[in-house]
Amino acid sequence: MVNTMDFLPLFFDLKCRTTLVVGGGKVALRKARMLNKAGAKIHVIALEINPELQELSLNSGGQFFLQEFDYIPAGNYLLVVAATDNSKVNEKVSEAAKRINLPVNVVDHPELCSFIFPAIVDRSPIIAAVSSGGSSPVLARILRAKLETVLPATYGRLAILAEKYRSQVKAKFTHINLRRGFWEKILQGAVADLVFSGKEAEADTLLQQVLSGEAPTKKESGEVYLVGAGPGDPDLLTFKALRLMQQADVVLHDRLVSQPIIDLCRRDAEFVYVGKARADHAVPQDNINQLLVKYAKAGHRVLRLKGGDPFIFGRGGEEIEELAQAGVPFQVVPGITAAAGCSSYSGIPLTHRDYAQSVRFVTGHLKNNTADLPWPELVHDRQTVVFYMGLMGLPVICHQLMEHGMAGTTPMALVQKGTTPEQKVVIATLATMEAELKKQPVSAPTLIIVGHVVSLHDKLKWFTPDSSLFSH
Ligand code: SAH
Repeated sequence: MVNTMDFLPLFFDLKCRTTLVVGGGKVALRKARMLNKAGAKIHVIALEINPELQELSLNSGGQFFLQEFDYIPAGNYLLVVAATDNSKVNEKVSEAAKRINLPVNVVDHPELCSFIFPAIVDRSPIIAAVSSGGSSPVLARILRAKLETVLPATYGRLAILAEKYRSQVKAKFTHINLRRGFWEKILQGAVADLVFSGKEAEADTLLQQVLSGEAPTKKESGEVYLVGAGPGDPDLLTFKALRLMQQADVVLHDRLVSQPIIDLCRRDAEFVYVGKARADHAVPQDNINQLLVKYAKAGHRVLRLKGGDPFIFGRGGEEIEELAQAGVPFQVVPGITAAAGCSSYSGIPLTHRDYAQSVRFVTGHLKNNTADLPWPELVHDRQTVVFYMGLMGLPVICHQLMEHGMAGTTPMALVQKGTTPEQKVVIATLATMEAELKKQPVSAPTLIIVGHVVSLHDKLKWFTPDSSLFSH
């Protein structure tokens, strides 16, 4: 006979069952916490006991014994964990347990174990357990982290909803294949989406409707996901953004959304470019709003992917206003806005106890080259001002700030394509930036940061991509 698995994963019901932990330190505490999560009573045998472990043990309904480990009485425990820092004692526990066929785990010693603790993704009641059989716990943890990113935090809520209707569904679809088909549709379709976006009551209603044959099971109504794609680095996406990107049928994206991010969308989705350069509006805003409504009404899951955060100079508000009016369901996912991304990746904190107690985000997009910004409000010694869309208007911005009393020596940074491999940071002052840009040309998108915090860049810069790789 060939063994193909070193361990069989099993899920133990430990509620109100007594378990034994030998050892009273931090490692023992870590294992005791796991046992406690599963509702076990925890007895502890140790020479000394960590106060937290002591409390945990008592609260679990267990007891602790400050004594040397001697033997394990048969029949008292469901399992035992050895977590002392003394390998002789650990071995003794393992032998004693094995003698009475009691499952035993010796932390970090797979050879002494009859069971091992897996790495866990807990979306109770859904639990995923990953193990490398002790060969590489780090690899198991890496895989666990990957699972964490693809399973929505509310995955377990879906299981709870399914459980609620389990017997009703069983009664209605007596044939297993029909039942399976029903659940596959529910658990991957609109009902699941509603649960994941926090609309549980609506999910419940829809499930009831589908079950009673009121709602069409195949053609579900569409929805729009207004999603912030962050400033450029794909690693700055949120889990939720990534999940919705991978399930959308149609993707409407901006000029600001970087290619590596678009590449993460579902491959077979329909891609519609609605980008906007400053003067050249590829698709006018009104048409974008209407397109969203049109695709959603046709039953598609539509991803409206926007650079940065959709609600910060992103016109996200206008787009969903139209959706709300048309009765199209939507959800909004925040993204890392350019100010946050550029600030971190250029080592320029936007606030700092010594330099700035507040920060303002301002549009630098000037109408007819005149400034309708509240300039006096922008001129404050201890305030950082961030201009979005400010490259064209830069000379006017510098001039107006100085005109309204800001010192020409105030440091200023211009961050080109922040967080991407083409990031470039130009540092100058209000008085010198215009001339500096003649020497060091930049291309959009760029963000302007004005204030004393800019002087920290020299000390705090850490992200230094090799831009020569990207000089086209
Ligand atoms: N909603 C977006 C902003 C859209 S306005 C957000 O929250 O970031 C477009 C402006 O954002 C650009 O003109 C530029 O000023 C700024 N911007 C966006 N991405 C940027 C990046 N990677 N680097 C520098 N500036 C960026």
